[in-house]
Parts: sequence; C-alpha cells; structure tokens
Amino acid sequence: PDDLLVVENLTKHFPIKGGGVIHAVNGVSLRQRRGETVGIVGESGCGKSTLARLCLRLVEPTSGEIRFDGADLRALSASALRAKRRDMQIIFQNPYASLDPRMSVGDIIREPLDIHGIGTRAERLREVAGLLEKVGLPSDAARRYPHEFSGGQRQRIGIARAIALRPKLVVADEPVSALDLSIQSQVLNLMVALRAELKLSYLFISHDLGVIRYISDRVAVMYLGQIVELADVDTLYAGPAHPYTRALLSAIPQPDPERRRVRAVPAGDLPNPEFPPPGCPFHPRCPNVMDHCRSVVPAERNIGTPDRPHLVNCHLYDPAPTSA
Ligand code: SF4
Ligand code: MG
Repeated sequence: PDDLLVVENLTKHFPIKGGGVIHAVNGVSLRQRRGETVGIVGESGCGKSTLARLCLRLVEPTSGEIRFDGADLRALSASALRAKRRDMQIIFQNPYASLDPRMSVGDIIREPLDIHGIGTRAERLREVAGLLEKVGLPSDAARRYPHEFSGGQRQRIGIARAIALRPKLVVADEPVSALDLSIQSQVLNLMVALRAELKLSYLFISHDLGVIRYISDRVAVMYLGQIVELADVDTLYAGPAHPYTRALLSAIPQPDPERRRVRAVPAGDLPNPEFPPPGCPFHPRCPNVMDHCRSVVPAERNIGTPDRPHLVNCHLYDPAPTSA
C-alpha cells in the first residue's frame, strides 16, 4: 500500500548485429514508496536510461516484474496501460529533441489532457495557463513555439507537460544534464517545489552525484546493468561501501560547487556490455579485487538495519566463514 513502484528482477537484453546480446539491465530489484524520490546514478552506458523506460513499460522487459500503484504493469492490456500512464510520466534529457517544433507550447502542454479527455476545451485552456504559471513561464508562452525558448525554458515546458495530468510518478532521465550550471539549479529547485506542491515521486536518473544528492531520498548506484549499492542519501554519501561508489565519489575533485558537477568517472573504462566480466562486474577496475571476485558473483548484503537497509553487492561484506 505504501509502495508506488516495485520492480523485481527486471532484465532487458538487446540483441545486436552479429548475434550477440547486450545485457542492458540485468536483474534489477527496486522499491519506491509514495512521495519518495529515488535517484539512480552511474556512468553513461550503465543501463540507467533503459531501466527508467522499463519501469514505465516504454521498453518491453525481457523478464522480471513491474508493479505500479498496485497494478501488474506487464499484465495490463494496451488500453489499460494507456489509462495507467496518466499516473506515470517522463521528462527527457534533451528539451530540444523532445518537444514537437511544429506544435505551439500551449498545444504541447495540453496534449496529454486532450488524449485522456480531461474537462472541456475551455477548462483545458485554463489548465494550460495555470501550468505555465506553475513552471514559471509567461502566459503568452502558450501561443509561441519551442524554438523561441531557451534550453531551461524548454525543460520547463517539458515539466509542465509531464505534470499536466497530476501523475503520481515522474521519471526524470537526466533532466538537467543538457543545461548550463546556473540553469540546472533553477530547474532542480522548480522540480523540488512541484514535488511538494503536487505530492510527486521522482525516479531521478543522473550521472551527476551532486544533482542526485540534492534531489534524492534514497540512491541506487548502477554498474553494468546492475544495482551495486542502495541506501538513503545521507548514509550513501557519508559512508559509501561499494568500491565503485567510493571511486565515483572520490572522482569528484573539489569542494568548489562549479567543479563538483563534473562527470564522475573512476579509473578505467566501462567494459563492453556485450561481454560482462565474470564474477563481480566491477572486478577489472576494482582496487580491492580478491581472487574469488573474478569468478563468484557477490550476493546482496544488508549492512544497514532492517528499518534502514544499506544494500551492497560486494565480497568485502561477505560474512566471515564460521569454523565448525
Ligand atoms: Fe571489488 Fe570484489 Fe567487491 Fe567486486 S566484489 S567490488 S571486485 S572487492
Ligand atoms: Mg542515458
């Protein structure tokens, strides 16, 4: 009842040319409570955008379960899924590409209301005016076109469209990554204000540890299609347990806020996801690697408490063998 989104063992394999398979998302389980913002952080190519789309069933999973607001999303018919989509919206990274340049801003924001047949036409027009005000755009914006607006303003248009139906969940896939730093904080502040006003939950995807820390209640760290660490935000940033998370956090070079927003990349390259390493996926880059890391997949351990789980997949946290 408290859970808004529950995914269990979600997997997406993409077949590629030449007969190979990319394991974009590999056995991800995640639970999001109502009103909670869950951040997903990782390098580009780790599968976080695919995970975001899987959660909304915009991409069809290879296997696994998705329950949203009590419904088994994979069991829904196309029409039942369309109706459910009212409660789950997405904001994309690129505010240039995600808005139809031939539609006026008013039509773009009104479209979801039209599709779901909300209110009369006059009521929908009034609603658009209210939405423009909520996201801090001038009222004459409705008659204008996306190209007349800056990047930050275009992302406000995307946000107005996403909240038009008063969804319960908004999946935000790198919503500020394409924007200048000063504009990033304005858009983030708007998202925080809207979350309180509209009681939204965000599933917030970013490669930027500063952004994730600012917006999230809990954070999942993704590596090669898997969640390797999951904890509430303060625990994770104060005491990162997985060597990958530690590497991400130490890759932040300076306390200077302008500098803090750099892309976090630990030493070494992300392996080709077509050929994930055996054992622990991080072992080729891990400073703490042990022999069995190269062959044995680490199990998930809770190093927190039952009430405040801190989950980590790493052999460093395996219980010591007990002698008989
Ligand atoms: Fe490093 Fe081994 Fe832990 Fe993987 S399981 S992160 S290789 S110590
Ligand atoms: Mg992405």
